[in-house]
Amino acid sequence: MVAQNSEDSKKEKDNNILKSTQEVVQDALGRLGYPDEAYELMKEPVRMITVRIPVRMDDGKVKVFTGYRAQHSDAVGPTKGGVRFHPDVTETEVRALSIWMTLKSGIVDLPYGGGKGGIICDPREMSFRELEALSRGYVRALSQVVGPTKDIPAPDVFTNSQIMAWMMDEYSRIDEFNNPGFITGKPIVLGGSHGRETATAKGVTICIEEACKKQGIELQGARVIVQGFGNAGSFLAKFMHDMGAKVIAISDAEGALHDPDGLDIEYLLDRRDSFGTVTNLFEDTITNDEMLELETDILVPAAIQNQIREDNAHNINAKIVVEAANGPTTLEATQILTERGILLVPDVLASSGGVTVSYFEWVQNNQGYYWKEEEVQEKLREVLVKAFNNVYTTSQNRNIDMRLAAYMVGVRKMTEAARFRGWI
Ligand code: GLU
Repeated sequence: MVAQNSEDSKKEKDNNILKSTQEVVQDALGRLGYPDEAYELMKEPVRMITVRIPVRMDDGKVKVFTGYRAQHSDAVGPTKGGVRFHPDVTETEVRALSIWMTLKSGIVDLPYGGGKGGIICDPREMSFRELEALSRGYVRALSQVVGPTKDIPAPDVFTNSQIMAWMMDEYSRIDEFNNPGFITGKPIVLGGSHGRETATAKGVTICIEEACKKQGIELQGARVIVQGFGNAGSFLAKFMHDMGAKVIAISDAEGALHDPDGLDIEYLLDRRDSFGTVTNLFEDTITNDEMLELETDILVPAAIQNQIREDNAHNINAKIVVEAANGPTTLEATQILTERGILLVPDVLASSGGVTVSYFEWVQNNQGYYWKEEEVQEKLREVLVKAFNNVYTTSQNRNIDMRLAAYMVGVRKMTEAARFRGWI
């Protein structure tokens, strides 16, 4: 009964996420002067695929997993976006996330539309062998509709470069030649790009630097709270610490750690497990909800959806909120924070560093010519600074919050492409 209830509430949350995404997309398209047909086209993925993947588990029994791939728009080019492995994955969530990927690619001006995938599973409870079989099975089930010129997967929640390597190997076997451009986020030796692993956190860092300039905050010595200690959160905490900011709190799914004098980030990074858990090693913890309300200069939700809501937005005590996770702040909360003068840098902008370096990886794979780390970092900075300022200026000129401004910038490319193609 309890499981049923939490499943229902997850479904309801995902429905709300999709609905609010559609709402902002509609608003953005209307403000840009596009006809209703544009919204009809944009509000759902063009293709939504469900797959069933049989995996022989270590106990000898076969378990059949359900996976999804949403291809939101192929107006601009191939679709692109990560694959998440999580017990709470739903079809609706994947659909919404694929729309966000179109927005991200539009904001940083990549030649892609959005895509997203997910498998309902708990990788924390699976062996390496089971995970490999599941990853390969997912690619076999989708091999007809994915590929370097069709739809290019990447890492997301609880997936990593090893999983990308298995998927790339499976696709290359089916395709009968080595095909690194099929997927991004690969290990460097298999055609991965320098800087991909840290790209999301680097992108968030660049957005924080730009937001601080706008708000007159000195990053050196500024207080930072990072919610989530996975790929984005952990690297971000490190970068903030290295840049002289004071990381006063971090959290993971189990709880949060707080020290007003600044946490020992190097130590925490050293002790975190591969799923980003570290607070379980400490006794003196606070809850995630308590942490979100602490006084700080910069708050970075880098975990999951629905963290800042109508019920706690009034208690957020930060000057800037930068969304490193997908969908951590609800629309109602966005409005409350904006009214309270808190600058909110939205997910579709702040977390676009990952897909930007994925694009660099795909370009390098296509060229067979590989760039140095500095070259990647320089290009990433150039793209993100431009995107941030584009969105910021739009929000200032139109007197709207940065989320709506980001959606306006993000939808334009795909909609224009669809218009030139004669679709709308
Ligand atoms: N999963 C990441 C995101 O949500 C990266 C996607 C990609 O690199 O294609 O932005």
